[in-house]
Amino acid sequence: GTGAPLLEVVDLLVRYGDIEAVRQVSLKVGVGEFVTLLGNNGAGKSSTLKAISRLAQASGSVRFSGHEVIREPTERLVGMGLALVPERRRLFGGLTVIENLKIGAYGRSHAELAGLIEEMLELFPNLKRLSASLAFSLSGGEQQMLAIARALMSRPRLLLLDEPSLGLAPLLVEQMFGKLVEVNRQGTAILLVEQNARMALSVAHRGYVLSSGRIVAEGSAAEVARDPRLMGAYLGHG
Ligand code: ATP
Repeated sequence: GTGAPLLEVVDLLVRYGDIEAVRQVSLKVGVGEFVTLLGNNGAGKSSTLKAISRLAQASGSVRFSGHEVIREPTERLVGMGLALVPERRRLFGGLTVIENLKIGAYGRSHAELAGLIEEMLELFPNLKRLSASLAFSLSGGEQQMLAIARALMSRPRLLLLDEPSLGLAPLLVEQMFGKLVEVNRQGTAILLVEQNARMALSVAHRGYVLSSGRIVAEGSAAEVARDPRLMGAYLGHG
């Protein structure tokens, strides 16, 4: 792409006590780009996303939209156009679908709310008939769609997703990734953390591979997908 990247992470370090969970991680997401961050269990994917969204302490540099944000509070980042779909969705189970969506509308005016909700119910038609249902009563796939819709309510320029395929049947994973492609085509950049490498590489433009807290490979999604060494050693597709 042209111009400065939307997100630029340089030399990220995340530690938990003596454990360095993420070391020297550098990555970029361009405006409107769809990037996936892959790696096995414990590779450091969640820690990287949490550090970017300021839910974990980190050192190094995280530039978003041209600003250094590594010390900014998470709410400020949402205001700047970054939204996170956390691992295991973290919905408010005792609130309805509509109420969950409203919570995602951080920084949007009251006047915009109705229009945003309508947009989300158009993008995720399954949620329409469930709009008055409590979130806990939804199926896993429906809950994941709701978590994505809630994050989109802030109209982010960059959507971060932490393993959205977790616990979903293959058909639902495919549906959900199809939605992400649609969201990306409408102009939202995506950074997708996944263990499901093949599926993620089938929708992303570029990929990074993490192992033991370090980036061990990066390239176009097609390049990563056809590298048997990578797919076998780091991504569990041997
Ligand atoms: P997963 O798919 O299991 O979430 P991941 O690639 O997202 O894996 P992280 O969750 O970032 O990996 O974990 C990276 C390393 O840091 C692991 O060794 C993990 O045990 C460790 N770790 C993660 N969170 C903490 C924490 N709060 N305290 C101590 N160690 C942690």
